[in-house]
Amino acid sequence: MNLLKELKGSMTIGISGHTKPDGDCVGSVMGMYLYLKKAMPSATVIPMIEKPGEEFNCIANLEDIKTDFNPGIEVFDTYIGLDCSTEDRYGDALPYFQNAKKRIVIDHHISNEGFGDASYIDGQASSTCELVYDLLEDKYMDIEIAKALYIGIIHDTGVLQYSCTSPKTLNIVAKLIEYGFDFPKIIDETFYEKTKLQNEMLGRALVESITFADGKCIVSKIDRKIMDFYGATPHEFEGIVNQLRYTKGVEVAIFMYEIDNMEYKVSLRSRGLVDVAKIAKFYNGGGHQRAAGFTIKGTFHDCVNNISDSIMIQMSK
Ligand code: AMP
Ligand code: MN
Ligand code: MN
Repeated sequence: MNLLKELKGSMTIGISGHTKPDGDCVGSVMGMYLYLKKAMPSATVIPMIEKPGEEFNCIANLEDIKTDFNPGIEVFDTYIGLDCSTEDRYGDALPYFQNAKKRIVIDHHISNEGFGDASYIDGQASSTCELVYDLLEDKYMDIEIAKALYIGIIHDTGVLQYSCTSPKTLNIVAKLIEYGFDFPKIIDETFYEKTKLQNEMLGRALVESITFADGKCIVSKIDRKIMDFYGATPHEFEGIVNQLRYTKGVEVAIFMYEIDNMEYKVSLRSRGLVDVAKIAKFYNGGGHQRAAGFTIKGTFHDCVNNISDSIMIQMSK
């Protein structure tokens, strides 16, 4: 895809990502925004996502993000959707995406079937930021764009550790850090640093975790009662499922939190034996082979029973 060609003539451009934006979502939306502001100075460009976590405050012009989903433009010439495998993950931004004269989809979820007028989708890419980087012309690149994209790559690769990290990913990272930002500080402050409350939630989830299938699966949950008592939001739960996955002998980790009475958001992580994207897709969610998610209704025990059945089918093959 030639991005600037696709955008030629567009005077109003909206950019969005998925609800509960993670590092790749914030990084790709802001990297794209900062780039288009420079490459297309006469266009009105509006980034629209939910308010990013405070750890992302180091990204330039974060205050330009429209979080109230009332951009003052009803029909955009072009709307760019990033890091979203399905339309419903745009949340309140969906009508703007659907109403736009042209819709561009850029994504790295293997489950993305391509639903825009133009799309750039690669299920092998580490992150949407990696794909955004592919589309940018060097002459408009700068340190702030590089930093935003770097953050997304770092987050979706678990600091260049997960199997989605490729030689291409590392080549891009090499080019990005040449811009000279303080990357160890960025990794610490956006990825590893946790608030006291986040650590408390992590501690709770670990203490309460249960293993099954001879220790090959681990599950933990945080319910509404606990969330209300601690004043914890989903933002506090990031990273918990990864920590569960580090349990020796575990192939699949499951973390669930109650989004509504008897309705859970489920995060799955796999060491490779089980394709959790397949399981998530079955429950109308999505993701990648080793990291996927979905929502499910029922009691905690019923949900775990159903999910474990899906896991067992793959494990017994
Ligand atoms: P999470 O477990 O929320 O950290 O998500 C892991 C991966 O699965 C990410 O790539 C998400 O974008 C994707 N994912 C999580 N929940 C959903 C969902 N409900 N629908 C589609 N993809 C999802
Ligand atoms: Mn994401
Ligand atoms: Mn991503």
